[in-house]
Amino acid sequence: MGCVSNLEASPQEALCEGTPADGPVRELLYPRDVVLGTRDGTTVSRTLPNKDRRMVGAWCFADHYGPTDVSDSPGMSVAPHPHAGLQTVSWLVAGEVLHRDSLGHVATARPGTLNLMTAGRGIAHSEHSPVPHDDVLHGVQLWVALPGEHRDTEPHFEHHADLPAAEGHGWHATVVMGQFAGQTSAAATYSPLVLAEITADGPFTLPLREDFEHALLVLDGEVDGVERGPLLYLGAGRAEIELTGRARFLVLGGVPFHEKIVMWWNFIGRTHDDIVAMRESWMDGDRFGEVQGSGQSRLAAPPMPGTTLMPRARKR
Ligand code: MN
Repeated sequence: MGCVSNLEASPQEALCEGTPADGPVRELLYPRDVVLGTRDGTTVSRTLPNKDRRMVGAWCFADHYGPTDVSDSPGMSVAPHPHAGLQTVSWLVAGEVLHRDSLGHVATARPGTLNLMTAGRGIAHSEHSPVPHDDVLHGVQLWVALPGEHRDTEPHFEHHADLPAAEGHGWHATVVMGQFAGQTSAAATYSPLVLAEITADGPFTLPLREDFEHALLVLDGEVDGVERGPLLYLGAGRAEIELTGRARFLVLGGVPFHEKIVMWWNFIGRTHDDIVAMRESWMDGDRFGEVQGSGQSRLAAPPMPGTTLMPRARKR
C-alpha cells in the first residue's frame, strides 16, 4: 500500500483562513476516502483538510490508514517525492515504516516512536515497509504547516524513540509533539501545538489548553460514541474535557493558524507562484536533493491545474 504522501492523481487545491478560534463546539468532520495513485490503489481516510475546516491549529493534513494485512504484500511503498513548507509526522499503531531522505537519514518508525521530517525550504523522502515486516500496518500521516517566518527553515529529520508519558485517572498519554498534561516532547515545533496519543478506559477527564483548538482522531475503540472515521472537532476555550469510552486516539491541537496558505500536492506555499517554483524545482532543479537506496525512481509531480491556486484560510 502507499501512503505518507499526497499521491492523488489529480490533487485538488486545498487550503487553509484567518478567523478567530471558535469556542467549545463538537463537530464531526467526516473523512473522504482517497485512493492514492500507487500501484495497488490503497485507500486512506482523510479528515484534513476538510471541506469547511481545513486546519486544526497548524495541523493541515490527516490521513489514517489500516489496519491492513500486509503479510503477503510489500506493504507501504512510496517512491521518493518532495515536501516544502511543512512538517510530516509518521505515527504508527501497528507495523513499521522505513524512512529515507535526501539528507541521508534512514530511520524506522514503529508504534511509540516518531518520525518527524521538517521539510522547510525543501527535502525529498521515500517511505516503505521494511523487509521483512510485521503482518499488520496501521498508522497516520499528519502534516504541520510551518508559519511564514519558519517555512524556509533548513530541512531536517528527527527520530524520537523516548517520548514523555503522562497519565491521569482512566487515561495514559504519550506526548508526541508539543506539551500535554505538563510533559513536553523534544520534537521540534514552530508554533504552539500538541499531538498526544491517549489510551483510555471509562469516564475520564483530559487537560487541555484554552487557547488551543483541539480535535480527536480515534485509532481504535470509541470515545463518546465516536469510532474511527471522523475527526471530532472540539473548538477552543476548554481547560479540560470530560469524555467516556474505551479507545486509543490522538489529540491534535494548537493555536489557530491565521495565515492563509496554498496547499497543493506535497507543498505548502503562500502564493500560486510559490507552488509553481517548488514544482519546477522538483521536476528540473536541485532544491530537494536525491533519495539514495529506495530502489524506486522518483515520483513525477502532477501537472499544475488550469486555474490559479488561491490562498485559503483555516476555515471556510
Ligand atoms: Mn511524504
